Amino acid sequence: MLVPMKTIVDEAYKGGYGVPALPAHNELLIRGAIEAAVESNSPLIFLVGNFNDGEFNRQMIRHFADQVDIPIATCLDHSPTFNDCVMGIRTGVTCIMADRSMLSYEDNVAQVKALAEVAHAAGVSIEAELGHVGQGDNYAVDGVSMLTDPDEAKKFIEETGVDCLAVAVGTAHGQYKGTPHIDFERLQAINEKCHHPLVLHGGSGTGDENISKACTMGIAKVNVVTDVLQNAVRHVLNSEVDFTEGNNGFRLCPTIQAAAKEMALHMFDVCGCTGKAVGTGLPGLWKAPPRPVRPSAI
Ligand SMILES: [Zn+2]
Repeated sequence: MLVPMKTIVDEAYKGGYGVPALPAHNELLIRGAIEAAVESNSPLIFLVGNFNDGEFNRQMIRHFADQVDIPIATCLDHSPTFNDCVMGIRTGVTCIMADRSMLSYEDNVAQVKALAEVAHAAGVSIEAELGHVGQGDNYAVDGVSMLTDPDEAKKFIEETGVDCLAVAVGTAHGQYKGTPHIDFERLQAINEKCHHPLVLHGGSGTGDENISKACTMGIAKVNVVTDVLQNAVRHVLNSEVDFTEGNNGFRLCPTIQAAAKEMALHMFDVCGCTGKAVGTGLPGLWKAPPRPVRPSAI
């Protein structure tokens, strides 16, 4: 079932575990991740966008989510404008990620606060970012700059009312050039100040041990995209099947779906959320309202 993302990250934060947020670019990735979540009784978050017919993918997630008894959330990742966020809410995401991390602190607060009011009025959760998580291919610079200040984070959460906060503690988006170094002291300080669900962007390539540790220190959501995509590519390239021979082309899609499932199962274990979709006492899980019935022709 589809739930506001707050439901999932609040439970994760209380329980001292994290939940992976996985890509939803197409049906194979969506089906693979949901299969994994059902099989391992894990909560699941999908990262969605307003690009590449994102609304269609969201409808597909809702269609599958309505059929399974595990909590699933959809998070509109890095939505840079007011219109983008409102469009996401209108087309049914259960969380918007209002990334204003490149603005000044004051402008970040002002824009996120306004969007929090809109999102909450619509029953949608909101994530924001303080400090700035950069790019892995510029890691020498991005890995050590614009890290999140613990005192500022506490103030930001109070001033904006966000449901969870993405923090910059040494991770970066995409593939790392160099070895990632996580500033756990900083993360601990942020967690002790804020007592609020935190989010780790740039989970791919960060290392299982680092992610597992971070998930015991307030990280309730871990974004992992590149690792899922690369696992799919590896499965296809390293397969013993020659997909170009005979009717083997039919095996391509199931291979990609199985790779997505495999990585999802792995990330549930790494984040510590395997089995957490059962017995978590999730209060009154939100259910999509029934579709209006078309009046029959007279
Ligand atoms: Zn990100």
